Amino acid sequence: MNIRDEALNRLEDFSNNNLGKYAADRNFDPGPENRNNTSLLSQYISHRIIDEQETIRAAYQKFPFKKIEKFVQEVFWRTYWKGWLEMRPQVWDDYNQDLNNLQNELNSSNYKEAIEGNTKIPCFNDWVLELKEFGYLHNHARMWFASIWIFTLGLPWQLGADFFLKHLLDGDPASNTLGWRWVAGLHTKGKHYLASEWNINKFSAKKYEHLNLNEQAQAKHEDRSYDIQPILFDEINSEHSLFVFHNLDCSLHLVEKEMNYNHYALIDFTSLLKKENYSPKVLDFKIRSNQYLTTTLKEQFNSQTIIQNKDDLQTIIKEKNIKNIIFPYLAVGYENDFIKEIKKEFDIYYLARDYDKYCWQFSTKGFFKFKEQIPKIITKFL
Ligand SMILES: Cc1cc2nc3c(=O)[nH]c(=O)nc-3n(C[C@H](O)[C@H](O)[C@H](O)COP(=O)(O)OP(=O)(O)OC[C@H]3O[C@@H](n4cnc5c(N)ncnc54)[C@H](O)[C@@H]3O)c2cc1C
Repeated sequence: MNIRDEALNRLEDFSNNNLGKYAADRNFDPGPENRNNTSLLSQYISHRIIDEQETIRAAYQKFPFKKIEKFVQEVFWRTYWKGWLEMRPQVWDDYNQDLNNLQNELNSSNYKEAIEGNTKIPCFNDWVLELKEFGYLHNHARMWFASIWIFTLGLPWQLGADFFLKHLLDGDPASNTLGWRWVAGLHTKGKHYLASEWNINKFSAKKYEHLNLNEQAQAKHEDRSYDIQPILFDEINSEHSLFVFHNLDCSLHLVEKEMNYNHYALIDFTSLLKKENYSPKVLDFKIRSNQYLTTTLKEQFNSQTIIQNKDDLQTIIKEKNIKNIIFPYLAVGYENDFIKEIKKEFDIYYLARDYDKYCWQFSTKGFFKFKEQIPKIITKFL
């Protein structure tokens, strides 16, 4: 079964059997063997194997708005975070600079014990193993994990975010970096998330004693502040063009039905992400997404061209006399960092979805402000 059919089946199964109870059950972490109270769709939505609109549409086909409001809001958290980071890309650059500056910390026993699941905190150790085995943690477990990492283990949030990004199948620079900053108290300044033994034992299926968590820690503070930079969307010129698919938007061709470019190819980012130390499990998932795109490329666009690096791109440009290169919009992240460099030499344009262009403008402040726009967004796009 291809990865898109797998995602559609998952969406259908969740909508039929568990969506109705989502609002009441979603905060409980039932453990890896019993996951059905949340959708487990994030790995697919983050690569847009299925997108936000079709996910919300499927929910609407089953229930009236009031019944699925919570689920719809959760899907919009992704959109909110994406827009927020697109307007403040410096947050990503600073995070990466911080990671470079923290190289010495990688040799500390505190860090090594944390990433090996060898700390004195049994729930934390369980989550480390679970993350490595399944490439997934429940949202509540992610919050507890990040909070314990920062406030009890006293480790830098940036290293925890990096560990998550490289091990989560749904690893997403916006949801992840900003999720960690939110827990630390850097997103809503001074408002942090403190995990407590009581809360963990209420919501986790497995119960724990004597966790000795730091339940009194102060929020983290930083001197930096981030001004909004307006997002400038490209005008697309499709003359002498090459359209380059990538696996961070696997369903754009289904949304943009009129795709009239001269040539089509797929760019494979696997070697780039390998260099960034993404886990083999995450790379395998991305390779499966590429397999789906390879078939699409062949069957719908009669092309078998795969670009592995800058030289491959250069060769195609020469061979086919390409003047304009179009990518599905690459949001802030390592793939965009790589293409941004190449953009200095070639005419590369990002094709953004109307949905993103419209929604991201509302990510100027907190989610509660964004949330007010949801009815308007739904009327326009569903
Ligand atoms: C520290 C931290 C790091 C995180 N890192 C990531 C990440 O790298 N990638 C990622 O996709 N999510 C991340 N999340 C958000 C959230 O934990 C996952 O999206 C969710 O657990 C996925 O499980 P699900 O598909 O069963 O979600 P459901 O509860 O079924 O939610 C439906 C969909 O809504 C979206 N969603 C739900 N909650 C959030 C949220 N808080 N932020 C953004 N989108 C959300 C997802 O697309 C999800 O598939 C992070 C949260 C925290 C606290």
